[in-house]
Amino acid sequence: METKILKTTENDINTAGEIIRAGGLVAFPTETVYGLGASAFDAAAAKKIYAAKGRPSDNPLIVHVCGVEQISEVAREIPADARRVMDAFMPGPVTIILKRNDIIPNTVTAGLDTVAIRCPDNDTARRFIKAAGVPVAAPSANLSGKPSPTKAEHVIKDMIGRIDAVICGGSCEVGVESTIVDFSSDVPVILRPGAVTRTDLEKIGVHALNDANILKEVSPDDVPKCPGTKYKHYAPDAQVIVVEGEKEAVQSKIKELLQECKGKITGVLAMYGAEYDDAVILSAGESNREYARNLFAALREFDELGADIVFAEFCERDGYGAAVKNRLYKAASHNVIHV
Ligand code: AMP
Ligand code: MG
Repeated sequence: METKILKTTENDINTAGEIIRAGGLVAFPTETVYGLGASAFDAAAAKKIYAAKGRPSDNPLIVHVCGVEQISEVAREIPADARRVMDAFMPGPVTIILKRNDIIPNTVTAGLDTVAIRCPDNDTARRFIKAAGVPVAAPSANLSGKPSPTKAEHVIKDMIGRIDAVICGGSCEVGVESTIVDFSSDVPVILRPGAVTRTDLEKIGVHALNDANILKEVSPDDVPKCPGTKYKHYAPDAQVIVVEGEKEAVQSKIKELLQECKGKITGVLAMYGAEYDDAVILSAGESNREYARNLFAALREFDELGADIVFAEFCERDGYGAAVKNRLYKAASHNVIHV
C-alpha cells in the first residue's frame, strides 16, 4: 500500500478526512503522541488498526472527538466527576473511560462495556477529526511494543506501506500518552499516569485512586482494568537499566556499571548533564516535563545508534514524574537500580 505523506494544509487535512470516511487509516499528530486513526463507527476500519500495528485484539482504542459536546454521542452516562474533568482539562492530554453507547463497535472497545474518550488539544488533530466528520478511534501510531511516536519520522519508520496516510505536524509537545481516568465504577481510578496528574484532579474535587498496575510488572495472564498494561511496551532494541536517585549517587553508579560493559555499545539518557567515557549521551532535559518530551525519541535514537545497553538517569521531580517513571520502568522491563 502506498502511504500518502500529508502536510497540515486545508487541502491535505480534507484528503485525510476523506480517507477516514472511506474506511482507511491516517496517522496524525496530537499534543501527547502521534495517533493512528480510523472511523470510530466503522468496525472493519478499526480492525485494520490492530493489523497495521500488530496490536493484540483485546487492547481497546481511544475514541478521539473534536469537541466535548461529541462525548454524549459515544457514552451513555457522564458522571459528575467525569463532567468536572471535561470542564477543566478538555481539550487536553486526558482520556476518560465511560460506559459506552451501542454506536461504538466491539472492535473499538475490544468487547468492553466501556469506551475511552479523548478530546486532543492540538490544532491539527482537531481540524482532522472535524474533517473526518466522525469520532476517530486511535491508539499510538507505533508498531506494537515499540516506543510511541513523537515525531512524524517515527511514524514513517514504523508504518510506511501499512497505512493510507500520515499527517506530518512536527514534534509532540507533551511526549507521553494521555492520563487515563476510569469513571465507569464508583470511584475514579487513574489507569495510566500522564500530564494531567492526580494532584490536578484533586484540585477540581476529583479524588482518584491509582490503579495497582501502574508501576508493577503485569503478567500476561492478569486481567488488568486497562488491558494495555499487560503488554510489552516502549521496548527499544537496547537493554534499558534505570538508575534512580540523586545526582552524585546516580553518576557514580553508572560510571561503575559502564566499566563492566567493555566491548558493548553503551548509552546514557542523562538528566544530570554528566560526562561519561565510552558512552553515547543523549539529554533527557533537566525537568521531568522535558524528560517526558524527550524520552521516546531518545529510546528510538539509541536504537538507530545500535546501542546494546542504555542507562537512564532518573529522579522524580515534578508533576510529569509519575508519567515518566511509568514509561521508563516499562521500557526497562522493571530493571531499576535505586541508589
Ligand atoms: P494507546 O493510546 O496506544 O496507549 O492505547 C490506548 C490505551 O487505552 C491502551 O492502554 C488501552 O488498554 C486503554 N483503553 C482503551 N479503552 C479502554 C477501556 N474501555 N477501558 C480501559 N482501558 C482502555
Ligand atoms: Mg500505544
